[in-house]
Amino acid sequence: MPSETLDQFLQHNLQDLKDQGLYNEIDPVDGANGPEITINGQKLINLSSNNYLGLATDDRLKEVAKDAVNSHGVGAGAVRTINGTLDLHVKLEEKIAEFKGTEAAIAYQSGFNCNMAAISAVMDKNDAILSDALNHASIIDGCRLSKAKIIPFEHSNMDDLRQKAKEATESGQYNKVMVITDGVFSMDGDIAKLPEIVEIAEEFDLITYVDDAHGSGVLGKGAGTVKHFGLQDKIDFQMGTLSKAIGVVGGYVAGKQELIDWLKVRSRPFLFSTSLSPADVTASRKAIDLLMESTDLYDQMWENGNYLKAGLKELGFDIGQSETPITPCIIGDEKTTQQFSKRLNEEGVYAKAIVFPTVPRGTGRVRNMPTAAHTKDMLDKAIKIYEKVGKELGVI
Ligand code: PMP
Repeated sequence: MPSETLDQFLQHNLQDLKDQGLYNEIDPVDGANGPEITINGQKLINLSSNNYLGLATDDRLKEVAKDAVNSHGVGAGAVRTINGTLDLHVKLEEKIAEFKGTEAAIAYQSGFNCNMAAISAVMDKNDAILSDALNHASIIDGCRLSKAKIIPFEHSNMDDLRQKAKEATESGQYNKVMVITDGVFSMDGDIAKLPEIVEIAEEFDLITYVDDAHGSGVLGKGAGTVKHFGLQDKIDFQMGTLSKAIGVVGGYVAGKQELIDWLKVRSRPFLFSTSLSPADVTASRKAIDLLMESTDLYDQMWENGNYLKAGLKELGFDIGQSETPITPCIIGDEKTTQQFSKRLNEEGVYAKAIVFPTVPRGTGRVRNMPTAAHTKDMLDKAIKIYEKVGKELGVI
């Protein structure tokens, strides 16, 4: 007989989380996820979305999405390999390849599922993956699913990566070895050291995989971290999402034609899960068009990011080492961080507390994601509220 029923498991684990203060209550947003949001009837300045360019609520995207629903319906009707590949999916993939400067691209239903799919389609139990210690959960899960040996290296520590790449390749134990990293790390806003990673990859013949969920739309005039460093020919997998700067939903890999051909026959969510809806792919394509036509939104996002950073820094907040608009406000201990976020919320700013285990103990922070859609007035109000709460809690 098993020693625990499902009910017992759920009751004691849920209670445990609640006792530790780790049970996350979810408050639904009433309406769109724009620069201001309404939660429980309260209007808040929203500094917690990944909607970097404000495209999630852009009228131009809404219009084409409506047209796509009218012409193609609301669902794709099948998985990609049966007859769920509509002309719209092909057009989106061509657009992504153009945007990323690669031969081809493949779209998936989400960024998370893209990492699970693409890593496990190429790597297997005879391989090894060198993975930055701060890589996203979907990378970790994709690596686990592949059954390859996972060898973490210290965050952005190139000596550690080189040493581990040397050991893994010289051991003769592995068929293939991959190095995988986020392009931009979302907790601190720092950028992966891609030129050094590429150098090490060339020295040891590693496969290179960059998850640019937070770099696409944000760096390289919008085209991402790989373009920012001019390394389009050096990265095998340029992975990204359609859910953050692009404002919609979905994930993709851009790369060589043969790689994409392989992923189309071997990645399981492509084979066994219904494809993105007509509205999603059409709105995403429009967003990429807009990014390729003009840097207006990109420039506005950077201006807003720099403005918020300067304002918080001037007040004496520790805003870490961010190299992107992501602006952490490092508070330190977990309780004060939670309290800080709660007080911001009560005063009219929605900025989530990020604490252990998402970030190391004692480095709790409130993370701000300024977007192109914020006005100066909203940012000024937010800075004032930060000042009030910061003084009240003795943080500044
Ligand atoms: N990779 C990274 C680095 C991410 O931050 C995220 C989203 N939090 C994902 C992948 C997953 O993307 P999506 O939300 O499109 O599933």
